[in-house]
Amino acid sequence: MDETDRGKQFTLAFGLCGNVREREQEREWSEEELVPISALNQYSYCPRRCFYIHVSGEFMDNEHTLAGTFLHERVHSEKDSVRGDILELRSRYLFSRKYGLVGRADLIEVNAGEYRPVEYKKGRRGDWDNDEVQLCAQALALEEALGRPVPEGYIFYAASGRRKKVLLDEQLRQRTVRLIEDVRQLLVSQSMPPAIYGPRCRGCSVYPVCLPAEVERLKKSVSRTED
Ligand code: SF4
Repeated sequence: MDETDRGKQFTLAFGLCGNVREREQEREWSEEELVPISALNQYSYCPRRCFYIHVSGEFMDNEHTLAGTFLHERVHSEKDSVRGDILELRSRYLFSRKYGLVGRADLIEVNAGEYRPVEYKKGRRGDWDNDEVQLCAQALALEEALGRPVPEGYIFYAASGRRKKVLLDEQLRQRTVRLIEDVRQLLVSQSMPPAIYGPRCRGCSVYPVCLPAEVERLKKSVSRTED
């Protein structure tokens, strides 16, 4: 890739917002209807966690969230760079008028005119698809800005130093679009989802305010007393 190609790719990449404006769709979103892309990750992990963080603003750090914050700060503070034929664009804001999404991509790789979002995670690959959903939402916004398909992306796991390729297939896209609407409903209704105690609660930073196991025990003891 010569300098001209790189220049074109930079122009394209920095022109994302302009392209969005040119492709504006009909729907207008109010501020409270706009869905932060990171909220999709929280919601698909646990709707109640999403409520605490994005509605009641009770985000609490633990060692996992702090490590994640430090990782993202480091990634976002690095400058754009070139690795071989790949242009690496860091910390790019994303917006989708079609889906009412706002967010930021940790990294967008551009190679031969193909754009791929890369999401950084501090831990290892988890058992749930919340990271894939977040990546897919980034791709939906990117596609809208570019006017071209983004068929895959990557999740980089800092703990293992490996990255996983994610195919953004129809099934994942449909799930992501459904979740965008679910999150929007949560943000607008501001109604708190029930606490469901399970394996996801282990390591959840909002456990101290949610107390799902304690609430469950209390409910059982009240119902025994009533019997
Ligand atoms: S503690 Fe469990 S139920 Fe409560 S928000 Fe976290 S994951 Fe959800």
